[in-house]
Amino acid sequence: MARVTLDSIRKQYGETTAVDGVSLTVGDGEIVGLLGPSGCGKTTTLRTVAGFETPNTGTVSFDDRDVTHVPPENRNVGLVFQEYALFDNMTVIENVTFGLKMRAVQRADRRERAHALLDMLGIGDLADRDPMTLSGGQQQRVGLARALAIEPRVLLLDEPMTGLDAKLKARLRAEVSQLLSELDVTGLYVTHDQEEAMLMCDRIAVMNDGRLEQVGSPQEVYESPATEFVSEFVALDAPGLPFVQW
Ligand code: ADP
Ligand code: MG
Repeated sequence: MARVTLDSIRKQYGETTAVDGVSLTVGDGEIVGLLGPSGCGKTTTLRTVAGFETPNTGTVSFDDRDVTHVPPENRNVGLVFQEYALFDNMTVIENVTFGLKMRAVQRADRRERAHALLDMLGIGDLADRDPMTLSGGQQQRVGLARALAIEPRVLLLDEPMTGLDAKLKARLRAEVSQLLSELDVTGLYVTHDQEEAMLMCDRIAVMNDGRLEQVGSPQEVYESPATEFVSEFVALDAPGLPFVQW
């Protein structure tokens, strides 16, 4: 895994400034949450790290290498994006091994790695299923296994729990959180859900209108909000966040 550095990223679409001078470092093995309301520039930031967007100004680096102009397929990032759906003409295991096949990994090795990941995610028995017959939560797990199979330098997740019911979300959060920490993944985790960011991320970057308002530990952001916006956005219904163990 790698350290990711965003330095003064600005991305404009015509008159719209989607990302307005974002600088952020995600340490090796760290999960940083990008938290903010809809339209604040989270997905654009993530797509810039993946290489689907080139910033107007600023740079993206993995460790000490500037990858700003490196195409996505050469960045070795794992993606769990909503629009990056499972391949419906392949079984679960074929989905998970696909990226390895593209990288010319031997079939036996591909299958061994895929089975290990599916087992870790508690869906080892679904390997030969058609993904379209799976529940939403099962599909999310397959998507995560597929993203992790290539042993990415960086894992990018864009609202990966969207569309799941509350109970499943709670379970998956805990499991995915544990898996990412076991695998020592460097990750950027986009969400508009404060509680999810608090529970799943080592640090949180609160974004508003293309800019970062505050970057800090969940506790710092919650207890010492740097701006009015952070204070309002991060305030949860539950007083004192009893569910979080700082
Ligand atoms: P978020 O993921 O936080 O909801 P986005 O990064 O998707 O925010 O969008 C940030 C802003 O950039 C929004 O105003 C959005 O309409 C605009 N935007 C995003 N992608 C495009 C695009 N391809 N073309 C034009 N505008 C875009
Ligand atoms: Mg988005």
